[in-house]
Amino acid sequence: MTSRVAVIGGGLAGITAALRCADAGLDVTLLESKGHLGGLTHSFRRGELDVDNGQHVFLRCCTSYVDLLGRLRVLDKVHLQDRLAIQVRSPRLPRPVWLRRNGLPAPLHLADSVLKYRPLPLADRLKFAGAALALRGVDRDSAETDAQSFADWLSRHGQSEQAITKLWDLVGIATLNAYATGASLSLAATVFQLGLLTDAAAADIGWSKVPLGQLHGEPAKARLTEAGAQVLLDTKVTGLSRVDGGWRVGAGDAEFTADQVVLAVPPDVARRLLPAGAVELPERWAERLGSSPIVNVHVVFDRQVMSEPFFAAVDSPVQWVFDRTGQSGVDSGQYVAVSMSAADDLIDVPVRDIRERMLPALRQVLPGAAGAQVRDFFVTRERHATFRPAPGTAALRPEAVTAADGLVLAGAWTATGWPATMEGAVRSGDAAARALVGATSRTDSLSLRSKDI
Ligand SMILES: Cc1cc2nc3c(=O)[nH]c(=O)nc-3n(C[C@H](O)[C@H](O)[C@H](O)COP(=O)(O)OP(=O)(O)OC[C@H]3O[C@@H](n4cnc5c(N)ncnc54)[C@H](O)[C@@H]3O)c2cc1C
Repeated sequence: MTSRVAVIGGGLAGITAALRCADAGLDVTLLESKGHLGGLTHSFRRGELDVDNGQHVFLRCCTSYVDLLGRLRVLDKVHLQDRLAIQVRSPRLPRPVWLRRNGLPAPLHLADSVLKYRPLPLADRLKFAGAALALRGVDRDSAETDAQSFADWLSRHGQSEQAITKLWDLVGIATLNAYATGASLSLAATVFQLGLLTDAAAADIGWSKVPLGQLHGEPAKARLTEAGAQVLLDTKVTGLSRVDGGWRVGAGDAEFTADQVVLAVPPDVARRLLPAGAVELPERWAERLGSSPIVNVHVVFDRQVMSEPFFAAVDSPVQWVFDRTGQSGVDSGQYVAVSMSAADDLIDVPVRDIRERMLPALRQVLPGAAGAQVRDFFVTRERHATFRPAPGTAALRPEAVTAADGLVLAGAWTATGWPATMEGAVRSGDAAARALVGATSRTDSLSLRSKDI
C-alpha cells in the first residue's frame, strides 16, 4: 500500500520535502496554516504594487535551492550575475567602490577589489588577506568553533573594528542576519568558506525577477498538485499524536491520519507539536535558539533614483538597497527596498520614526534622489525572520531524523550546517524526504551557469 505522508508547513522546507515524497510515489498531503505556500518568502498586493515580505537573494553556491527552482519550472524567473559585483556606497565617499571578482581563482578573485576598498584605510585592506586565509582553515563542524563569536575571532586575526563593520559585516549581516559580534564562528565560516573563499563563482548573486509568490508559492502549489499531492491551505495543525503504526494529525475539528510525518514548521511550533522524547535537545531549546528580525523599508520615488539593480552602504544605517520597480509592477518612478538585517533596533519602531531616520540616510547614499518626491513609504517587518545564529547554536538544532518512528523534521533552523537561508530550508526538506523515502538527490540537477537562468 502507498505510504501516506503528512507534510506540516508549506515554506520552502515543506514544499521541497512534499515534492520529493510525491515524486517518489508517496501519497502526500501538505497542511499549511496560511492561505498560501512559501512561508517566509511571500508577496502581497498593496494597491497597484506587488510587494515582497522582504528582499531575498541567493548565491550561485545555493545549488539545492536552484535545483528546487528547476523543479518548480521557474528558472527563467530569476537572474544570476555572470560575475559577483557589489557596488558599495558611503556618504563619506564622493564615488561608489566596487567589490567584484576578477578572473582569478578563489581567494585571489577579490584581492584587487579589497586592495582598492576605500571605505577602509590601506592598513586594514592589507590585513584582510591574512584573516581570509585563516578562515579557510577553520573547522566549522567543531563545537569549539561554534562556541566562539565571529567578531572575537576576527579581532584575534588582526581585523580592526572598522574592518569588521565595513567589510566583514557587509556580507555577514545579509547572509547570517547577525552582526559579527552576535554570530557563531561556525556559521560565519560556513558562509565565507562556501561563498567567498573556495570557489570564485560561488558568491555570484541571484534574485527573483517576479514577486516571491510567483517564484515559490504559486508554482509549488501547481507542481505539487500535478505530482498528485493534496495541498490544504488555511489548515493549522494543532495536534500530533501516535496511533497504531502511524500518526494522527489534528487541525482544529479536522483530523488526518498518516503513516509518516514531516514537521516543517518554525521551531516554537515544532516544540509544541513534537511528542515527548522525539528530540534530545537541551531544555527550552526553541526559546534559546531564538529569532532575529529583518525589516524592509519600501520607498516609491516619483522618478528614477538608481540605475543598478542593488547596492550596499557603509557608514550609514542603510544596509542593502534593491530596485524593486520591475517586480512590483510600478509603471513610472522607481520603487526601492532597503533591506535591514539583524534589525533589533527597528523592529518595534513606528513607521513615522523609521521614515525620519531612514529617508535622510537613504538620500545621502542615493544622490539621484535629490529633489525626488516620495510617492509611497511603508515598512514590512519579520520579527522571526531567522533563528538567531549566536555562538552555541549548533547544539540547539535537531537533525531531520527524530526518535519517533516515521516522524522527521525540516526547516531552515534544523541541523543543516547552514544559517537560516532558502538554501538551508531546501536542504532540510531534502534531508527529511531522504530519511522517509531513502531517495537520493535529483540527478538531473540543473546547471548553474547564468546563461540557463
Ligand atoms: C525578510 C526576510 C528576508 C530574507 N532574506 C533571505 C535572503 O536574502 N536569502 C536567503 O537565502 N534567505 C533569506 N531569508 C530566510 C529564508 O526566507 C528562510 O530561511 C526560509 O524561507 C525558511 O523556510 P522554512 O520552510 O524553513 O520556514 P518557513 O518559511 O517559516 O515555513 C514554515 C511554514 O509552516 C507554517 N506553519 C506554522 N505553523 C503551522 C501549523 N501549526 N500548521 C501548519 N502550518 C504551519 C508557516 O505558515 C510557514 O508557511 C529571509 C527571511 C526573511 C523573513
